Amino acid sequence: MIKFYHFHKIHLKKFTSTNWKRSISSLIQSKNFVGGNWITSGTGETFDVTNPATGNIIGSVPDMTVTEAEKAIREAKTAFASARWSKLTGKERSSLLKKWHTLIEENRNEIADIMTQESGKPISESHGEITYGNSFTEWFAEEARRIYGEVIPPPGPNRELFVLKQPIGVAALITPWNFPLAMITRKAAAALAAGCTVIIKPSEDTPLTALALAKLSEEAGFPNGTINILTTTKAANFGKLFCSSPDVDTISFTGSTEVGKILYRDSSANVKRISLELGGNAPFIVFNSADVEKAVEGSIVSKFRNCGQTCVSANRFFVQDGIYDSFMKALIERVGKLKIGPGLNTDTQIGPLINKNQFDKVKSFVDDASSKSAKILHGGRARKDIGNLFYEPTIVTNINQNMKLYTDEVFGPVISVIKFKTEEEAVIKANDTRRGLAGYFYSQDLSQIFRVAKALQVGMVGINEGLISTAEAPFGGVKESGIGREGSHHGIDEYVEVKYICLGNLKY
Ligand code: ADP
Repeated sequence: MIKFYHFHKIHLKKFTSTNWKRSISSLIQSKNFVGGNWITSGTGETFDVTNPATGNIIGSVPDMTVTEAEKAIREAKTAFASARWSKLTGKERSSLLKKWHTLIEENRNEIADIMTQESGKPISESHGEITYGNSFTEWFAEEARRIYGEVIPPPGPNRELFVLKQPIGVAALITPWNFPLAMITRKAAAALAAGCTVIIKPSEDTPLTALALAKLSEEAGFPNGTINILTTTKAANFGKLFCSSPDVDTISFTGSTEVGKILYRDSSANVKRISLELGGNAPFIVFNSADVEKAVEGSIVSKFRNCGQTCVSANRFFVQDGIYDSFMKALIERVGKLKIGPGLNTDTQIGPLINKNQFDKVKSFVDDASSKSAKILHGGRARKDIGNLFYEPTIVTNINQNMKLYTDEVFGPVISVIKFKTEEEAVIKANDTRRGLAGYFYSQDLSQIFRVAKALQVGMVGINEGLISTAEAPFGGVKESGIGREGSHHGIDEYVEVKYICLGNLKY
Protein backbone atom coordinates (compact mmCIF):
# COMPACT_ATOMS: atom_id res chain seq x y z
CA MET A 1 0.00 0.00 0.00
CA ILE A 2 1.28 3.44 -0.76
CA LYS A 3 1.84 5.84 2.04
CA PHE A 4 -1.28 7.96 2.03
CA TYR A 5 -3.71 5.11 1.58
CA HIS A 6 -2.02 3.32 4.43
CA PHE A 7 -2.23 6.45 6.55
CA HIS A 8 -5.92 6.79 5.87
CA LYS A 9 -6.55 3.13 6.65
CA ILE A 10 -5.50 3.72 10.24
CA HIS A 11 -8.42 6.07 10.60
CA LEU A 12 -10.82 3.74 8.88
CA LYS A 13 -9.97 1.12 11.43
CA LYS A 14 -10.26 3.45 14.36
CA PHE A 15 -13.61 4.91 13.34
CA THR A 16 -15.73 1.92 12.49
CA SER A 17 -19.48 2.20 12.21
CA THR A 18 -20.04 1.40 15.89
CA ASN A 19 -18.41 4.73 16.67
CA TRP A 20 -20.87 6.75 14.57
CA LYS A 21 -22.51 9.51 16.53
CA ARG A 22 -25.74 9.68 14.58
CA SER A 23 -27.56 8.49 11.51
CA ILE A 24 -26.32 9.61 8.08
CA SER A 25 -29.17 12.01 7.44
CA SER A 26 -28.74 14.21 10.51
CA LEU A 27 -25.71 16.03 9.12
CA ILE A 28 -27.17 16.43 5.63
CA GLN A 29 -28.81 19.86 5.64
CA SER A 30 -31.35 21.25 3.21
CA LYS A 31 -31.10 24.84 4.46
CA ASN A 32 -28.34 27.43 4.74
CA PHE A 33 -26.83 28.90 7.87
CA VAL A 34 -26.96 32.71 8.19
CA GLY A 35 -26.86 34.80 11.35
CA GLY A 36 -27.28 31.68 13.48
CA ASN A 37 -30.50 30.64 11.68
CA TRP A 38 -31.22 27.93 9.13
CA ILE A 39 -32.85 29.64 6.16
CA THR A 40 -34.20 28.88 2.68
CA SER A 41 -33.91 31.02 -0.43
CA GLY A 42 -36.38 33.91 -0.73
CA THR A 43 -37.25 32.58 -4.20
CA GLY A 44 -37.85 29.10 -2.81
CA GLU A 45 -35.47 27.68 -5.41
CA THR A 46 -33.16 24.77 -4.70
CA PHE A 47 -30.63 22.72 -6.65
CA ASP A 48 -29.78 19.05 -6.48
CA VAL A 49 -26.50 17.50 -5.40
CA THR A 50 -25.57 14.35 -7.28
CA ASN A 51 -23.17 11.50 -6.65
CA PRO A 52 -20.69 11.49 -9.56
CA ALA A 53 -20.15 7.74 -9.21
CA THR A 54 -23.80 6.87 -9.79
CA GLY A 55 -25.59 10.00 -10.98
CA ASN A 56 -28.03 9.60 -8.06
CA ILE A 57 -29.36 12.68 -6.28
CA ILE A 58 -28.19 12.71 -2.67
CA GLY A 59 -29.72 15.96 -1.45
CA SER A 60 -30.89 19.38 -2.47
CA VAL A 61 -29.90 22.78 -1.10
CA PRO A 62 -31.15 26.38 -1.41
CA ASP A 63 -30.19 28.27 -4.54
CA MET A 64 -29.49 31.57 -2.83
CA THR A 65 -29.51 34.98 -4.51
CA VAL A 66 -27.65 38.18 -3.68
CA THR A 67 -30.53 39.11 -1.35
CA GLU A 68 -29.45 36.38 1.07
CA ALA A 69 -25.79 37.14 0.44
CA GLU A 70 -26.42 40.76 1.45
CA LYS A 71 -28.14 39.51 4.58
CA ALA A 72 -25.15 37.29 5.37
CA ILE A 73 -22.81 40.26 4.95
CA ARG A 74 -24.92 42.32 7.39
CA GLU A 75 -24.93 39.47 9.90
CA ALA A 76 -21.19 38.93 9.61
CA LYS A 77 -20.56 42.65 9.99
CA THR A 78 -22.71 42.86 13.10
CA ALA A 79 -21.07 39.80 14.59
CA PHE A 80 -17.66 41.29 13.91
CA ALA A 81 -18.34 44.79 15.16
CA SER A 82 -20.25 44.03 18.32
CA ALA A 83 -18.58 42.34 21.25
CA ARG A 84 -19.60 39.02 19.81
CA TRP A 85 -16.45 37.91 17.99
CA SER A 86 -13.60 40.32 17.30
CA LYS A 87 -13.57 41.50 20.87
CA LEU A 88 -13.27 38.05 22.38
CA THR A 89 -9.80 37.17 23.58
CA GLY A 90 -7.60 34.88 21.51
CA LYS A 91 -8.05 32.29 24.21
CA GLU A 92 -11.85 32.45 23.95
CA ARG A 93 -11.76 32.16 20.16
CA SER A 94 -9.31 29.30 20.52
CA SER A 95 -11.64 27.43 22.80
CA LEU A 96 -14.53 27.58 20.28
CA LEU A 97 -12.27 26.46 17.45
CA LYS A 98 -11.18 23.53 19.60
CA LYS A 99 -14.82 22.55 20.16
CA TRP A 100 -15.43 22.67 16.42
CA HIS A 101 -12.33 20.55 15.90
CA THR A 102 -13.56 17.93 18.39
CA LEU A 103 -17.02 17.77 16.84
CA ILE A 104 -15.59 17.33 13.34
CA GLU A 105 -13.40 14.51 14.62
CA GLU A 106 -16.30 12.84 16.45
CA ASN A 107 -18.43 12.92 13.31
CA ARG A 108 -15.73 11.93 10.87
CA ASN A 109 -17.48 8.79 9.56
CA GLU A 110 -20.60 10.67 8.69
CA ILE A 111 -18.73 13.57 7.09
CA ALA A 112 -16.55 11.15 5.11
CA ASP A 113 -19.62 9.42 3.80
CA ILE A 114 -21.20 12.70 2.68
CA MET A 115 -17.92 13.83 1.12
CA THR A 116 -17.42 10.63 -0.85
CA GLN A 117 -21.00 10.69 -2.05
CA GLU A 118 -20.91 14.25 -3.31
CA SER A 119 -17.32 14.46 -4.56
CA GLY A 120 -16.70 10.86 -5.64
CA LYS A 121 -13.36 10.61 -3.85
CA PRO A 122 -12.48 7.22 -2.33
CA ILE A 123 -13.69 6.87 1.25
CA SER A 124 -10.09 6.37 2.46
CA GLU A 125 -9.24 9.76 0.93
CA SER A 126 -12.26 11.40 2.53
CA HIS A 127 -10.93 10.25 5.89
CA GLY A 128 -7.50 11.55 4.92
CA GLU A 129 -9.04 14.89 4.00
CA ILE A 130 -10.83 15.11 7.35
CA THR A 131 -7.55 14.45 9.14
CA TYR A 132 -5.79 17.06 7.00
CA GLY A 133 -8.63 19.60 6.98
CA ASN A 134 -9.31 19.34 10.68
CA SER A 135 -5.62 19.81 11.44
CA PHE A 136 -6.20 23.46 10.42
CA THR A 137 -8.93 23.98 13.03
CA GLU A 138 -6.52 22.59 15.61
CA TRP A 139 -3.53 24.55 14.31
CA PHE A 140 -5.35 27.87 14.13
CA ALA A 141 -7.02 27.26 17.51
CA GLU A 142 -3.45 27.21 18.80
CA GLU A 143 -2.34 30.20 16.70
CA ALA A 144 -5.30 32.32 17.91
CA ARG A 145 -3.39 32.90 21.16
CA ARG A 146 -0.16 33.88 19.44
CA ILE A 147 -1.06 36.73 17.10
CA TYR A 148 1.79 38.82 18.41
CA GLY A 149 2.57 42.45 17.64
CA GLU A 150 5.98 44.11 17.88
CA VAL A 151 7.77 46.64 20.05
CA ILE A 152 10.17 48.63 17.85
CA PRO A 153 13.20 50.45 19.25
CA PRO A 154 12.57 54.16 18.46
CA PRO A 155 15.15 56.10 16.41
CA GLY A 156 14.84 59.22 18.65
CA PRO A 157 14.19 60.06 22.33
CA ASN A 158 10.87 60.13 24.23
CA ARG A 159 8.93 57.86 21.92
CA GLU A 160 7.71 54.29 21.94
CA LEU A 161 6.76 52.48 18.74
CA PHE A 162 4.41 49.51 18.55
CA VAL A 163 2.82 47.29 15.96
CA LEU A 164 -0.58 45.67 16.51
CA LYS A 165 -2.18 42.99 14.37
CA GLN A 166 -5.91 43.56 14.20
CA PRO A 167 -8.56 41.43 12.48
CA ILE A 168 -9.44 42.82 9.08
CA GLY A 169 -13.22 42.35 9.43
CA VAL A 170 -15.63 40.32 7.31
CA ALA A 171 -13.99 37.66 5.14
CA ALA A 172 -15.77 36.12 2.13
CA LEU A 173 -14.45 32.64 1.41
CA ILE A 174 -15.10 31.00 -1.96
CA THR A 175 -14.10 27.35 -2.12
CA PRO A 176 -13.87 24.56 -4.74
CA TRP A 177 -15.19 21.00 -4.88
CA ASN A 178 -11.92 19.03 -4.87
CA PHE A 179 -11.42 19.33 -1.08
CA PRO A 180 -14.94 20.08 0.17
CA LEU A 181 -13.86 20.25 3.82
CA ALA A 182 -10.18 21.20 3.88
CA MET A 183 -10.50 24.23 1.60
CA ILE A 184 -13.07 25.61 4.05
CA THR A 185 -11.23 24.89 7.30
CA ARG A 186 -7.89 26.10 5.92
CA LYS A 187 -9.44 29.51 5.31
CA ALA A 188 -12.16 29.75 7.95
CA ALA A 189 -10.09 28.58 10.90
CA ALA A 190 -7.38 31.16 10.12
CA ALA A 191 -9.94 33.95 9.68
CA LEU A 192 -11.80 33.05 12.86
CA ALA A 193 -8.60 32.72 14.87
CA ALA A 194 -7.60 36.21 13.74
CA GLY A 195 -10.96 37.60 14.92
CA CYS A 196 -12.69 37.89 11.54
CA THR A 197 -16.21 36.69 10.80
CA VAL A 198 -16.82 34.64 7.66
CA ILE A 199 -19.24 34.08 4.81
CA ILE A 200 -18.50 30.81 3.06
CA LYS A 201 -19.66 30.06 -0.47
CA PRO A 202 -18.80 26.43 -1.20
CA SER A 203 -18.77 24.89 -4.64
CA GLU A 204 -22.18 24.02 -6.07
CA ASP A 205 -20.84 20.46 -6.62
CA THR A 206 -20.09 19.85 -2.92
CA PRO A 207 -22.33 22.00 -0.70
CA LEU A 208 -23.34 19.20 1.69
CA THR A 209 -19.96 18.81 3.39
CA ALA A 210 -19.90 22.59 3.90
CA LEU A 211 -23.35 22.58 5.48
CA ALA A 212 -22.35 19.68 7.74
CA LEU A 213 -19.48 21.88 8.95
CA ALA A 214 -21.98 24.69 9.55
CA LYS A 215 -24.15 22.36 11.63
CA LEU A 216 -21.17 21.37 13.76
CA SER A 217 -20.09 25.02 14.15
CA GLU A 218 -23.57 25.74 15.48
CA GLU A 219 -23.16 22.93 18.01
CA ALA A 220 -19.74 24.24 18.95
CA GLY A 221 -21.45 27.47 19.99
CA PHE A 222 -19.88 30.18 17.81
CA PRO A 223 -21.81 33.45 18.29
CA ASN A 224 -24.58 34.07 15.73
CA GLY A 225 -23.31 35.54 12.47
CA THR A 226 -19.68 34.53 13.05
CA ILE A 227 -19.91 31.69 10.50
CA ASN A 228 -22.37 31.99 7.61
CA ILE A 229 -22.68 29.51 4.75
CA LEU A 230 -24.58 30.12 1.53
CA THR A 231 -25.11 27.72 -1.38
CA THR A 232 -25.88 28.98 -4.86
CA THR A 233 -25.59 28.28 -8.56
CA LYS A 234 -25.16 32.03 -9.13
CA ALA A 235 -21.49 32.15 -8.16
CA ALA A 236 -20.63 35.05 -10.46
CA ASN A 237 -23.27 37.28 -8.83
CA PHE A 238 -21.88 36.43 -5.41
CA GLY A 239 -18.35 37.16 -6.62
CA LYS A 240 -19.41 40.59 -7.88
CA LEU A 241 -21.18 41.39 -4.63
CA PHE A 242 -18.23 40.31 -2.45
CA CYS A 243 -15.85 42.39 -4.58
CA SER A 244 -18.01 45.53 -4.60
CA SER A 245 -19.49 45.53 -1.08
CA PRO A 246 -17.71 47.93 1.26
CA ASP A 247 -18.75 45.65 4.12
CA VAL A 248 -16.66 42.72 2.88
CA ASP A 249 -13.11 43.43 3.98
CA THR A 250 -11.25 40.59 2.34
CA ILE A 251 -11.85 37.76 -0.11
CA SER A 252 -10.11 34.42 -0.06
CA PHE A 253 -10.62 32.27 -3.13
CA THR A 254 -9.47 28.81 -4.15
CA GLY A 255 -10.34 27.72 -7.65
CA SER A 256 -9.54 28.26 -11.28
CA THR A 257 -7.06 30.88 -12.47
CA GLU A 258 -9.76 32.30 -14.76
CA VAL A 259 -12.16 33.04 -11.91
CA GLY A 260 -9.30 34.21 -9.66
CA LYS A 261 -8.39 36.84 -12.25
CA ILE A 262 -11.99 38.09 -12.39
CA LEU A 263 -12.10 38.47 -8.61
CA TYR A 264 -8.68 40.15 -8.54
CA ARG A 265 -9.80 42.62 -11.19
CA ASP A 266 -13.19 43.33 -9.60
CA SER A 267 -11.78 43.80 -6.11
CA SER A 268 -9.30 46.39 -7.38
CA ALA A 269 -12.13 48.96 -7.73
CA ASN A 270 -12.10 49.52 -3.98
CA VAL A 271 -8.60 48.20 -3.26
CA LYS A 272 -9.89 45.18 -1.39
CA ARG A 273 -7.52 42.70 0.18
CA ILE A 274 -7.64 39.37 -1.63
CA SER A 275 -5.86 36.06 -1.39
CA LEU A 276 -5.91 33.60 -4.24
CA GLU A 277 -5.01 29.92 -4.44
CA LEU A 278 -5.25 29.15 -8.15
CA GLY A 279 -4.32 26.42 -10.58
CA GLY A 280 -0.89 24.84 -10.85
CA ASN A 281 1.04 23.03 -13.56
CA ALA A 282 3.39 21.11 -11.31
CA PRO A 283 6.57 19.60 -12.71
CA PHE A 284 7.68 16.23 -11.33
CA ILE A 285 11.34 15.65 -12.22
CA VAL A 286 13.07 12.31 -11.87
CA PHE A 287 16.85 12.72 -12.08
CA ASN A 288 19.30 9.92 -12.86
CA SER A 289 20.34 9.63 -9.21
CA ALA A 290 16.75 9.09 -7.98
CA ASP A 291 15.60 6.06 -6.04
CA VAL A 292 13.23 4.52 -8.63
CA GLU A 293 10.92 2.84 -6.14
CA LYS A 294 10.46 6.03 -4.11
CA ALA A 295 10.00 8.12 -7.23
CA VAL A 296 7.26 5.78 -8.45
CA GLU A 297 5.46 5.92 -5.10
CA GLY A 298 5.79 9.70 -5.09
CA SER A 299 4.33 9.83 -8.60
CA ILE A 300 1.32 7.81 -7.53
CA VAL A 301 0.46 9.92 -4.50
CA SER A 302 1.13 13.19 -6.23
CA LYS A 303 -0.75 12.29 -9.40
CA PHE A 304 -3.66 10.08 -8.42
CA ARG A 305 -4.92 11.55 -5.16
CA ASN A 306 -8.51 12.60 -5.77
CA CYS A 307 -8.27 11.17 -9.30
CA GLY A 308 -5.68 13.82 -10.20
CA GLN A 309 -8.06 16.63 -9.30
CA THR A 310 -5.83 18.67 -7.01
CA CYS A 311 -4.04 21.90 -7.81
CA VAL A 312 -0.75 20.49 -6.48
CA SER A 313 -0.99 17.32 -8.60
CA ALA A 314 2.07 16.57 -10.67
CA ASN A 315 1.06 17.67 -14.16
CA ARG A 316 4.20 17.18 -16.27
CA PHE A 317 6.67 14.36 -15.56
CA PHE A 318 10.24 15.02 -16.70
CA VAL A 319 12.38 11.87 -16.61
CA GLN A 320 16.14 11.88 -17.25
CA ASP A 321 17.43 9.61 -20.01
CA GLY A 322 19.65 7.45 -17.76
CA ILE A 323 16.79 6.34 -15.50
CA TYR A 324 13.98 6.56 -18.05
CA ASP A 325 13.59 2.86 -18.89
CA SER A 326 13.68 1.54 -15.34
CA PHE A 327 11.39 4.29 -14.02
CA MET A 328 8.82 3.85 -16.79
CA LYS A 329 8.76 0.07 -16.40
CA ALA A 330 8.13 0.33 -12.63
CA LEU A 331 5.59 3.13 -13.12
CA ILE A 332 3.50 1.20 -15.67
CA GLU A 333 3.50 -1.81 -13.40
CA ARG A 334 2.42 0.26 -10.39
CA VAL A 335 -0.30 2.21 -12.23
CA GLY A 336 -1.67 -1.09 -13.56
CA LYS A 337 -2.43 -2.14 -9.97
CA LEU A 338 -4.57 0.90 -9.11
CA LYS A 339 -8.16 -0.03 -8.36
CA ILE A 340 -10.81 2.10 -10.05
CA GLY A 341 -14.41 2.15 -8.79
CA PRO A 342 -17.06 3.94 -6.72
CA GLY A 343 -15.58 5.77 -3.75
CA LEU A 344 -17.72 4.00 -1.18
CA ASN A 345 -15.99 0.67 -1.97
CA THR A 346 -13.24 0.58 0.64
CA ASP A 347 -10.61 -0.78 -1.78
CA THR A 348 -11.16 1.95 -4.41
CA GLN A 349 -8.13 4.11 -5.17
CA ILE A 350 -9.39 5.94 -8.26
CA GLY A 351 -12.93 7.33 -8.18
CA PRO A 352 -14.90 9.18 -10.86
CA LEU A 353 -14.18 12.67 -12.13
CA ILE A 354 -16.37 15.26 -10.46
CA ASN A 355 -18.63 16.18 -13.38
CA LYS A 356 -19.11 16.01 -17.14
CA ASN A 357 -17.00 19.14 -17.80
CA GLN A 358 -14.03 17.60 -16.04
CA PHE A 359 -14.54 14.27 -17.75
CA ASP A 360 -14.76 15.87 -21.20
CA LYS A 361 -11.67 17.96 -20.49
CA VAL A 362 -9.54 14.96 -19.50
CA LYS A 363 -10.71 12.96 -22.50
CA SER A 364 -10.11 15.85 -24.91
CA PHE A 365 -6.57 16.44 -23.56
CA VAL A 366 -5.61 12.79 -24.06
CA ASP A 367 -7.27 12.69 -27.51
CA ASP A 368 -5.46 15.90 -28.48
CA ALA A 369 -2.06 14.44 -27.51
CA SER A 370 -2.66 11.07 -29.17
CA SER A 371 -3.82 12.76 -32.38
CA LYS A 372 -0.39 14.42 -32.47
CA SER A 373 2.78 12.41 -31.77
CA ALA A 374 2.11 11.21 -28.20
CA LYS A 375 2.03 7.53 -27.26
CA ILE A 376 -0.40 6.07 -24.74
CA LEU A 377 1.50 3.49 -22.68
CA HIS A 378 -1.31 2.68 -20.28
CA GLY A 379 -5.05 3.39 -19.99
CA GLY A 380 -6.41 6.21 -22.12
CA ARG A 381 -10.02 5.06 -22.08
CA ALA A 382 -13.28 5.99 -20.39
CA ARG A 383 -14.77 3.30 -18.15
CA LYS A 384 -18.45 3.63 -18.95
CA ASP A 385 -18.93 0.10 -17.64
CA ILE A 386 -18.46 1.53 -14.11
CA GLY A 387 -20.18 4.88 -14.59
CA ASN A 388 -20.35 7.88 -16.92
CA LEU A 389 -17.52 9.82 -15.25
CA PHE A 390 -14.82 7.19 -14.80
CA TYR A 391 -11.55 7.50 -16.72
CA GLU A 392 -8.70 5.00 -16.49
CA PRO A 393 -5.41 5.95 -14.87
CA THR A 394 -3.33 6.81 -17.92
CA ILE A 395 0.31 7.21 -18.90
CA VAL A 396 1.20 9.18 -22.04
CA THR A 397 4.72 9.74 -23.40
CA ASN A 398 6.32 11.80 -26.18
CA ILE A 399 4.58 14.92 -24.85
CA ASN A 400 5.63 18.28 -26.28
CA GLN A 401 4.78 21.99 -26.08
CA ASN A 402 2.08 21.71 -28.76
CA MET A 403 -0.13 19.54 -26.61
CA LYS A 404 -2.66 20.60 -23.99
CA LEU A 405 -1.25 17.95 -21.65
CA TYR A 406 1.96 20.04 -21.60
CA THR A 407 0.58 23.56 -21.51
CA ASP A 408 -2.54 23.20 -19.34
CA GLU A 409 -3.51 21.58 -16.07
CA VAL A 410 -5.28 18.29 -16.91
CA PHE A 411 -6.87 17.88 -13.45
CA GLY A 412 -7.36 14.19 -14.07
CA PRO A 413 -5.66 10.77 -13.75
CA VAL A 414 -3.14 11.27 -16.55
CA ILE A 415 0.65 11.07 -16.27
CA SER A 416 2.30 13.00 -19.11
CA VAL A 417 5.96 12.10 -19.60
CA ILE A 418 8.76 14.09 -21.21
CA LYS A 419 12.28 12.64 -21.49
CA PHE A 420 15.20 15.01 -20.85
CA LYS A 421 19.02 14.96 -20.94
CA THR A 422 20.42 17.69 -18.65
CA GLU A 423 19.43 19.33 -15.36
CA GLU A 424 19.43 22.72 -17.04
CA GLU A 425 17.00 21.53 -19.70
CA ALA A 426 14.66 20.06 -17.05
CA VAL A 427 14.64 23.27 -14.99
CA ILE A 428 13.99 25.47 -18.05
CA LYS A 429 11.09 23.26 -19.14
CA ALA A 430 9.72 22.97 -15.59
CA ASN A 431 9.63 26.77 -15.33
CA ASP A 432 8.19 27.19 -18.82
CA THR A 433 4.70 28.04 -17.56
CA ARG A 434 2.91 31.07 -16.12
CA ARG A 435 1.89 28.94 -13.15
CA GLY A 436 3.98 28.17 -10.10
CA LEU A 437 2.22 26.35 -7.30
CA ALA A 438 4.04 23.11 -6.42
CA GLY A 439 7.05 21.34 -7.94
CA TYR A 440 8.55 17.95 -7.13
CA PHE A 441 11.82 16.25 -7.88
CA TYR A 442 13.66 13.06 -7.00
CA SER A 443 17.42 13.15 -6.65
CA GLN A 444 20.06 11.87 -4.26
CA ASP A 445 22.70 14.38 -5.26
CA LEU A 446 22.87 16.96 -2.47
CA SER A 447 24.24 19.81 -4.55
CA GLN A 448 21.63 19.16 -7.22
CA ILE A 449 18.92 19.13 -4.54
CA PHE A 450 19.80 22.68 -3.42
CA ARG A 451 20.39 23.97 -6.97
CA VAL A 452 17.06 22.73 -8.27
CA ALA A 453 15.04 23.62 -5.14
CA LYS A 454 16.22 27.23 -5.52
CA ALA A 455 15.72 27.34 -9.29
CA LEU A 456 12.14 26.08 -9.47
CA GLN A 457 9.68 28.96 -9.81
CA VAL A 458 7.03 27.60 -7.47
CA GLY A 459 5.68 28.33 -3.99
CA MET A 460 6.22 24.78 -2.68
CA VAL A 461 8.88 22.17 -3.43
CA GLY A 462 8.72 18.47 -2.65
CA ILE A 463 12.11 16.74 -2.74
CA ASN A 464 11.89 12.96 -2.64
CA GLU A 465 8.29 13.49 -1.44
CA GLY A 466 5.06 13.55 -3.43
CA LEU A 467 2.69 14.75 -0.72
CA ILE A 468 3.92 17.79 1.18
CA SER A 469 1.01 19.88 2.41
CA THR A 470 0.61 20.19 6.18
CA ALA A 471 -0.97 22.72 8.57
CA GLU A 472 2.46 23.74 9.89
CA ALA A 473 3.84 24.87 6.50
CA PRO A 474 2.81 27.74 4.19
CA PHE A 475 0.71 26.70 1.19
CA GLY A 476 0.56 28.97 -1.84
CA GLY A 477 1.91 29.81 -5.25
CA VAL A 478 3.90 32.29 -7.31
CA LYS A 479 3.25 33.75 -10.77
CA GLU A 480 -0.38 33.17 -11.81
CA SER A 481 -0.90 30.49 -9.18
CA GLY A 482 -1.90 33.01 -6.58
CA ILE A 483 -1.35 35.58 -3.91
CA GLY A 484 -0.93 34.90 -0.21
CA ARG A 485 -0.38 31.82 1.90
CA GLU A 486 -2.59 29.45 3.85
CA GLY A 487 -1.66 27.32 6.85
CA SER A 488 1.37 27.94 9.08
CA HIS A 489 1.68 31.20 11.03
CA HIS A 490 1.66 33.01 7.66
CA GLY A 491 -1.97 31.92 7.18
CA ILE A 492 -3.08 34.40 9.86
CA ASP A 493 -1.51 37.31 7.93
CA GLU A 494 -4.24 37.17 5.28
CA TYR A 495 -6.81 38.14 7.91
CA VAL A 496 -5.07 40.88 9.91
CA GLU A 497 -4.12 44.49 9.36
CA VAL A 498 -0.75 45.67 10.61
CA LYS A 499 -1.25 48.85 12.62
CA TYR A 500 1.69 51.04 13.65
CA ILE A 501 1.27 53.06 16.85
CA CYS A 502 3.63 55.88 17.80
CA LEU A 503 3.46 57.14 21.39
CA GLY A 504 5.32 60.46 21.65
CA ASN A 505 6.36 63.18 24.07
CA LEU A 506 7.11 60.81 26.90
CA LYS A 507 9.04 62.30 29.79
CA TYR A 508 11.97 60.01 30.43
P1 ADP B 1 -13.46 24.78 -11.11
O1 ADP B 1 -13.33 25.07 -12.58
O2 ADP B 1 -12.35 24.00 -10.57
O3 ADP B 1 -14.83 24.33 -10.71
P2 ADP B 1 -14.05 27.44 -10.34
O4 ADP B 1 -13.06 28.52 -10.25
O5 ADP B 1 -15.08 27.52 -11.42
O6 ADP B 1 -13.21 26.12 -10.38
O7 ADP B 1 -14.85 27.27 -8.99
C1 ADP B 1 -14.29 27.47 -7.70
C2 ADP B 1 -15.29 28.21 -6.86
O8 ADP B 1 -15.52 29.49 -7.45
C3 ADP B 1 -16.67 27.55 -6.76
O9 ADP B 1 -17.19 27.79 -5.47
C4 ADP B 1 -17.47 28.30 -7.80
O10 ADP B 1 -18.86 28.30 -7.54
C5 ADP B 1 -16.91 29.68 -7.65
N1 ADP B 1 -17.06 30.56 -8.83
C6 ADP B 1 -17.18 30.22 -10.13
N2 ADP B 1 -17.28 31.33 -10.90
C7 ADP B 1 -17.22 32.40 -10.05
C8 ADP B 1 -17.27 33.83 -10.23
N3 ADP B 1 -17.37 34.38 -11.43
N4 ADP B 1 -17.17 34.59 -9.11
C9 ADP B 1 -17.05 34.04 -7.90
N5 ADP B 1 -17.00 32.72 -7.67
C10 ADP B 1 -17.08 31.90 -8.74
